[in-house]
Amino acid sequence: MLWSGWGDPAKASELPEPIRALLRDLLGVRAPETRAVGIEEVRLPAVTLPPPVLGELRAAVGADHVRCDDDARVRHTRGKSTPDLMRMRAGDGSEAPDAVVLPGSHADVLEVLRICAAHRVAVVPFGGGTSVVGGLTADRRGFAGVVALDLGRLDRLVSVDAESMTAEMEPGLRAPRAERLLARHGFTLGHFPQSFEYATLGGFAAARSSGQASAGYGRFDDMVVGMTVATPRGTLDLGRAPKSAAGPDLRQVILGSEGAFGVITSLRLRVRRAPAERAYEGWRFESFQAGSAALRRLAQEGPLPTVLRLSDETETMVGLARPGEIGALASGAGCLAIVGYEDTGESGPAGAGEDGAGGTTTGTGGGIASLRERVAAVLSGAGGVCLGPEPGESWARGRYSAPYLRDSLLAAGATVETLETAGFWSGLPRLYDAVRLSLHASLGSPLVMCHVSHVYGTGASLYFTVVTARSGDPVAQWETAKRAVSDAIVAAGGTISHHHGVGRDHREAYAAEIGELGVEILRGIKGRLDPEGILNPGVLIPPL
Ligand SMILES: Cc1cc2nc3c(=O)[nH]c(=O)nc-3n(C[C@H](O)[C@H](O)[C@H](O)COP(=O)(O)OP(=O)(O)OC[C@H]3O[C@@H](n4cnc5c(N)ncnc54)[C@H](O)[C@@H]3O)c2cc1C
Repeated sequence: MLWSGWGDPAKASELPEPIRALLRDLLGVRAPETRAVGIEEVRLPAVTLPPPVLGELRAAVGADHVRCDDDARVRHTRGKSTPDLMRMRAGDGSEAPDAVVLPGSHADVLEVLRICAAHRVAVVPFGGGTSVVGGLTADRRGFAGVVALDLGRLDRLVSVDAESMTAEMEPGLRAPRAERLLARHGFTLGHFPQSFEYATLGGFAAARSSGQASAGYGRFDDMVVGMTVATPRGTLDLGRAPKSAAGPDLRQVILGSEGAFGVITSLRLRVRRAPAERAYEGWRFESFQAGSAALRRLAQEGPLPTVLRLSDETETMVGLARPGEIGALASGAGCLAIVGYEDTGESGPAGAGEDGAGGTTTGTGGGIASLRERVAAVLSGAGGVCLGPEPGESWARGRYSAPYLRDSLLAAGATVETLETAGFWSGLPRLYDAVRLSLHASLGSPLVMCHVSHVYGTGASLYFTVVTARSGDPVAQWETAKRAVSDAIVAAGGTISHHHGVGRDHREAYAAEIGELGVEILRGIKGRLDPEGILNPGVLIPPL
C-alpha cells in the first residue's frame, strides 16, 4: 500500500487531458501540480514509549514483531481519508505511533493489552489501515506512548462448517485473500467494498462495513454470527446460535465499536456458495427521483438483484463523459443505475440477513435468468430503459479504480473526498438536498455527485463524491465543509454514517445522533471493558 496515497503504486495513472480541462474550466483548479514528499522526509515525533515497556512487548510477541523503525511508523500513521492523505503528502507524521506491534495469537493480544494497561500506553488496533473517518489516530494526552496493534499476522481461515455455511476466520485477513481461501471450499463472503484490495475482516466488523453487493449478500454486520474479542478485562466469546432471545445481543455492541471496546481476534462468518454465474447491466431513468422510486419498489416488493446502485444526474454525466462530449451529455443523460446478478444457488433471502427482514429474494437456485427477467419487469414498469451489459461490465471492471483517481486529482491541485449517510425513503429527498446545499454553501461551486449505494425495505444510503478547487489551506477548507455537512445531515434526520463508521471525524455528530444518555451508555461499556481507557482513545466516544 502506498503510504501517501492509495493502493499499488504501479497502478497509479496520469489524469487524462479532458479531466484536467474539466478541473480547470468547470472548477477553476489553478493550483500547481504537487507531489508527495519522499517517505524519508516525513517528520516523525520522538518515540516516548519507555524502553522497559518496549522490552516487555518484545518478550510478549517476539522481538521481530515489535517495530520502531521510521518506515513502519509512517505506514501506520492515520488512515486514508483525503485530509489524512493531504497531511501525509506534506510530510506531516505528527500522529505516528511510537511502535508497531504484531501479535500472533489471541493470547498475544491479551498480553499486549495487559502490558499497555499497566503502563498506560494507548493501543490502536490496525487492520488494513483504510479508515476514512480518523479511526486510526489515538489521542496521546495522558498516555506514556501509542502502539499500533497490527493484526496482519492473524490471517488464517481457521475452519469451515459447510453444513451450517459458516467459516471461522482471523481478523487480519485481507478481503482478497479471504475470498481466495473460501473459494477453495466453494464459498464466498460476498463482501466487496471499494477498499476490497486492502481492508481486513476485522476492520469490516469493527467499522460495520457495507460492500457493493450488499443488496444480495447483506452488510458485513449481517455476516457476523460469532466473534472472539480480547479486552483489557479478558476474553468475550459471543454468538452460539444464528439468532437468540437470550437478552440483548452483545455481538452488536462490538460490531461498530472501532477498537474502542476490544480487539476482535476471531470471527465466525456466514458464507454463501460462490456464484456460478454473474451479470451486470445498466439501466437509464429520466431522473434521480424516478430511479429512486424504482429501487424502492425492488427493495420493498422484490426481487432484489445482488448489486443495485443509482447515480444522480451529475454523477451520470461525469461518469459517462467522453473527451469532447461533456457538454452534449450534460442535458438529457438522465440517471444511470447499475444492476448486478450473481447466482449463489440459493432461493432464500441472501440480502436480508438471517431472518429475511428488509428484503426478498436474490439468488434463484436456477441461474440468474429468471431473476433478471423479474427485476427487468419491475424496472421497465417504473420507467427504466435497459442499456445492456456494457455500462454494467464497465462498472464491474473499474469498481476498485476510483481511489487511484483520487491520488491523481490531489496531485493536480483539486480536493476530492467522499461522504455518506442513510435515511428512510420518505426523508431521502430532504437529506439529498441538505447535503448538496451545505457543500455548495461551504465550498462555492464544487462538483457534487451522488449515488444511492445500498437499499433496504425502509430506506437507503446516499454516497456523495465532492470535487473542488483547493484553497491555500486545503485541510482546513475541507474540515470546515465537513463540519457543516455533518450538522446538515443530523438536522435533516440522516445518520452520520451508513458504512464508514464514526472514528474521530464523526464522534460529535454521532453523539448528537444518540443523545447524552446514549453517550453515557457507551462510556459505561468502555469503562467496564477498558478501565484504563487505553483502547483507541478519542475514537467513537467524545472525550469528557
Ligand atoms: C478508497 C476507499 C474506499 C472505501 N470503500 C468502502 C466501501 O465501499 N464500504 C465500506 O464499508 N467502507 C469503505 N471504506 C472504508 C474502510 O475501508 C472500511 O471502514 C473498512 O471496514 C476498514 O477496514 P480496515 O481493515 O482497513 O480497518 P482499519 O482502517 O485498519 O480500522 C478501522 C477501525 O477499526 C478498528 N479495528 C481494525 N481492526 C480491528 C480489530 N480486529 N478489532 C477491533 N478493532 C479493529 C481500527 O482501530 C479502526 O478504528 C473505504 C475506504 C477507502 C480508503
